Amino acid sequence: MARTHNLGFPRIGAGRELKFALEAYWQGQSSRDELLALGATLRRRHWQDQAALDLAPVGDFAFYDQVLDMSFTLGNLPQRVQDFHGDTLDNYFRVARGRSAQSAQAHAHCCGGVAAGEMTKWFDTNYHYIVPEFSAATEFRLDASRLLDQLAEARVQGVKAKPVIIGPVTYLALGKAKDQSDRLALLDRLLPVYAELLAVLAAQGVEWVQIDEPLLVTELDAGWGDAFARAYQALDTGKVKLLLATYFGQLQDNLPLVASLPVQGVHLDAVNARDEVQALLARLPAGRVVSLGVINGRNIWKTDLNAALDWLEPLARQLGTRLWLAPSCSLLHVPVDLDSEQQLDGEIKSWLAFARQKLNELTLLATALNQGRAAVQAELDANRNAIDARRNSPRVHNPAVKAALATIDAQLGRRQSAYPIRAARQAELLQLPRFPTTTIGSFPQTAAIRQVRSRFKAGEIDVTAYRQAMQAEIARSVHEQEALGLDVFVHGEAERNDMVEYFGEQLDGYAFSQFGWVQSYGSRCVKPPILFGDISRPRAMTVEWITYAQSLTTKPMKGMLTGPVTLLNWSFVRDDQPRAASCRQLALAIREEVLDLERAGVRVIQIDEAALREGLPLRRAQWQEYLDWAVESFRITANGVDDATQIHTHMCYSEFNDIIRSIAQMDADVITIETSRSDMELLDAFDHFKYPNEIGPGVYDIHSPNIPSEEHIVQLMKQAAARVPAERLWVNPDCGLKTRQWHEVIPALTNMVKAAKTLRATL
Ligand code: GLN
Ligand code: ZN
Repeated sequence: MARTHNLGFPRIGAGRELKFALEAYWQGQSSRDELLALGATLRRRHWQDQAALDLAPVGDFAFYDQVLDMSFTLGNLPQRVQDFHGDTLDNYFRVARGRSAQSAQAHAHCCGGVAAGEMTKWFDTNYHYIVPEFSAATEFRLDASRLLDQLAEARVQGVKAKPVIIGPVTYLALGKAKDQSDRLALLDRLLPVYAELLAVLAAQGVEWVQIDEPLLVTELDAGWGDAFARAYQALDTGKVKLLLATYFGQLQDNLPLVASLPVQGVHLDAVNARDEVQALLARLPAGRVVSLGVINGRNIWKTDLNAALDWLEPLARQLGTRLWLAPSCSLLHVPVDLDSEQQLDGEIKSWLAFARQKLNELTLLATALNQGRAAVQAELDANRNAIDARRNSPRVHNPAVKAALATIDAQLGRRQSAYPIRAARQAELLQLPRFPTTTIGSFPQTAAIRQVRSRFKAGEIDVTAYRQAMQAEIARSVHEQEALGLDVFVHGEAERNDMVEYFGEQLDGYAFSQFGWVQSYGSRCVKPPILFGDISRPRAMTVEWITYAQSLTTKPMKGMLTGPVTLLNWSFVRDDQPRAASCRQLALAIREEVLDLERAGVRVIQIDEAALREGLPLRRAQWQEYLDWAVESFRITANGVDDATQIHTHMCYSEFNDIIRSIAQMDADVITIETSRSDMELLDAFDHFKYPNEIGPGVYDIHSPNIPSEEHIVQLMKQAAARVPAERLWVNPDCGLKTRQWHEVIPALTNMVKAAKTLRATL
């Protein structure tokens, strides 16, 4: 008898209830009790959704973040909030979100200003966790109250509860030592607290605890492998059974280690690591539970259940009750419920599964294994039909796109001449001053702009009225830029809701859900577009807006596009072809747009690759392969233009050391990057590598409402000029200005333009 369980359920709610409740609470519009009640309602509903499983996760619900929850459970609060005497939940939110000294004035007696915990990406997902903070002096102290409360709540509701915690080694690895001390040295202090937690759970009659160690799918640095052995020896107390959960990839070199740990069960991501199952089984001691993550927890496609059964049936015979089935990872990374979708194309919808549907698939698989396929024959047939329909659909397969893909050769991604020759031609044509000034694309997205867009979408205004309103916004931003005296203009992106969705909506091969929200961090959610088929561009997407903007000024107007790698990395993508193939299709489509812009007389074209770095695989060994096709895709997109056309790219992050060689291979004439908060140190990477083309290091931190002074910008640029020759430097903000207000942008850019003039006069 195979058993079913789940590793985690999306906590945000099918209607994003948690988001709205959190925001109301933070704004003082609802009470703590209301927020707590909503949390309980969501947990109840989500456990009901999982009622058919043999075990459901408890403790996967978090008001902000599961890693921050774990920090509180372990009593590891940042030093700066430890003397807080108010409510624990409020302290939790202080760590999560920080509190400005300003807003804290009213609370000076209780909480004061406090910096938010650092946030970073959870492995290779788009979920962000709050980084645990350590120092050599860190002590841990158990606070099991959250877990015990949720466990009690689950028990009352008849939930077959399996508490979920983050394992000690992954927990340490995810954190940062503020004093550069060795985090591993804390393991001996941490393990007794874990042991105590397991004992407390055991005292509650808990049989199984899921202990997550996704670190095991990464390359372990020296010492970390031993830490696993030491940790699990210490936690092998015989009081509860441990299910060691690994996910997001293969174990590879770590497989023998995993098999050797004294735990009662191991969960393997059988989507990514199916090939490792036999090797793991061969090594695991007799009697161990093997949980196979057979339903993909990272995408939105239906599982091919018949194919899964072909593979699982012999395993089920071999393993009997030792076989457990689950999604590959927590379902946190997929939307909640496909049934909410009323506007999605019916055919495409029939190919999809969100969290609730994925759990149905899981129970179907278990029933088929335990009672024979005949017990669920109708469902299996329906699944086969859906899988076959998708496989053969002309909506998915476009022979013209496949033919174009087959003709890609190295020539396609090559500029006509090398950078120095191009730079000369561009200089002649554009006649820019030294230290040219520009912005990254968007100007403030005012309430008025959003309203016009949503009224147009709702059919309340016609296309003529919409176009007029957008043109008025473009004209406004052109006039502001004239007044500011910038050198290379942008149209301001008023017509764009989002840099991926805007293009996805105009490309064939993309679909959009209404409610397919996935938590990104805290109350923030994203709704990734669904790339389901071969990508083609039926018509030009941006040319009309850019040429209108250009018609209003004699200054060069930058065409503004999102690059193929970013479109890919911020979408749910196909699982029936390699990511590289989908990326190349996107590249060909955006290339056509680049060429159309050039034909329309646009002389400067920016192709944003905001998400290129975050697509790096978990294992370093796989980085180069990714970078190769990512760079190739960018080059296909960008490099079909004439020497005189200036290609810009933009990346809003500041870690380039690892990827600088690939960035150079992209061969954009100009790259703008985020630097203002790093004091230009990151330019060292460009300096050491002798990055040959032009660079615009951001000098205005657009994430903050602060207005940078002229002196500050001059000083930053001087630091930049110490690393990069002045004639190759641009002056620009860190990123787009859409989240700022005009009354912030105008003085900031005024100072930026003044700073550029000072630099021209002095450097
Ligand atoms: N062109 C985009 C903008 O200015 C770039 C956004 C980004 O890099 N995230 O909004
Ligand atoms: Zn950016």
